[in-house]
Amino acid sequence: MKKLFTQTDMCILCGALLLLAAALLLFRAPAREKANTVNIYVDNALYASIPLGEARTIEIVRGDQRNVVAADAAGVWMAEANCPDHTCVEQGKITPENERLRALGNRIICLPNRVTVELVWTP
Ligand SMILES: [Zn+2]
Repeated sequence: MKKLFTQTDMCILCGALLLLAAALLLFRAPAREKANTVNIYVDNALYASIPLGEARTIEIVRGDQRNVVAADAAGVWMAEANCPDHTCVEQGKITPENERLRALGNRIICLPNRVTVELVWTP
């Protein structure tokens, strides 16, 4: 009687199952760790931490340096800044959906004013 599976078949089958398991883990991880918190750092120190979901603006004034961080249910962005280059304002909005695709990932950085906005997952 002919064997149903040869040893080679079993290897291919096991390999395919391992790949499937790895793929499932990869696709599950982002869903479990969907960003839900906005952390704002000034001079590398935590300045504010707010849950993502409600519309609000946070003004950060230090001497003559000013930044306005805005958030709504979808994401967070640098609404205003008086830094010389305005790169932070041009970095646009971070959302849980685009944070992995942006050049700076889950961060908006205002280098001149030393303000960092970060979208993170908090359990
Ligand atoms: Zn800036």
